[in-house]
Amino acid sequence: MENRVAVITGASRGLGRAIAIDLAAHATHVILAARDVASLDAVAQSIGAGAATVVAADVSDPAGMQALVDHAVGQFGRLDVFVNNAGVAPQSSVEQTTDQEWARVVDINLNAAFRSARALAPVYREAGSGRLINIASVFGLLGRSGFGAYGASKAGLINLSRVLAAEWAKFGAQVNVVAPGYISTDINAEIRENEAFMKRVVSRIPAKRMGEAHEVANLVRYLALDAPDFLTGQVIAIDGGESAS
Ligand code: NAP
Repeated sequence: MENRVAVITGASRGLGRAIAIDLAAHATHVILAARDVASLDAVAQSIGAGAATVVAADVSDPAGMQALVDHAVGQFGRLDVFVNNAGVAPQSSVEQTTDQEWARVVDINLNAAFRSARALAPVYREAGSGRLINIASVFGLLGRSGFGAYGASKAGLINLSRVLAAEWAKFGAQVNVVAPGYISTDINAEIRENEAFMKRVVSRIPAKRMGEAHEVANLVRYLALDAPDFLTGQVIAIDGGESAS
């Protein structure tokens, strides 16, 4: 289908950037959302004139997701795909996590997805179609120490997605979750500098390597554009076998 429109949050770098570039290469106009507008502009430029739109958005702003959906529908008259990708992954034990930090992580990783879904529902219902892809994490499936707020937010995102799949199937919209394992991006740049830690991380991954952003983008594109409508409410881990072993 030509002229599809997709919103990707957190498109200024990492997985969001790779997802946007991949979708744009497959006949989809991409709306790039994040806080760092200079980086979004650079991504838009690499995609090419007319194929990408930049929108400054802080996903933790309670009004931000409704505004993002309204912007897309207002400008293009349609919205086919929404990828909740923006996220933060601070590391601290539960004992050392402050209320403020817990709330910040849940706001960005979970509350934004809830608000985007609430804004998307009437748009997808009216269209009788639409796809929502939520980027969770294998840490939302596993109990990894040091990732209490992060793991809880991603576990919440997984269950929210299943509920949405059940609520939206009757009007023809699909909701699926991509749960990456360790993928080489800025989010784990600090961790990757710790050689001993990385050795331990890679030893737990049957594929014996970290993943690459383009591998996640490939899966997101499948769910966004190619997957059958009957595929909904699923969580697909892309982790070199980490969560399977
Ligand atoms: P990254 O390189 O750190 O990029 C994070 C993105 O999120 C940036 O574009 C950032 O944009 C955006 N973002 C953060 N806070 C935001 C806010 N308040 N409002 C709007 N945008 C915000 O991370 P990544 O590795 O690409 O991760 C992307 C997603 O994949 C996250 O949800 C993460 O939890 C998930 N994930 C990643 C891995 C991995 O190993 N890389 C594994 C599992 C899950 P600005 O700073 O410009 O706003």
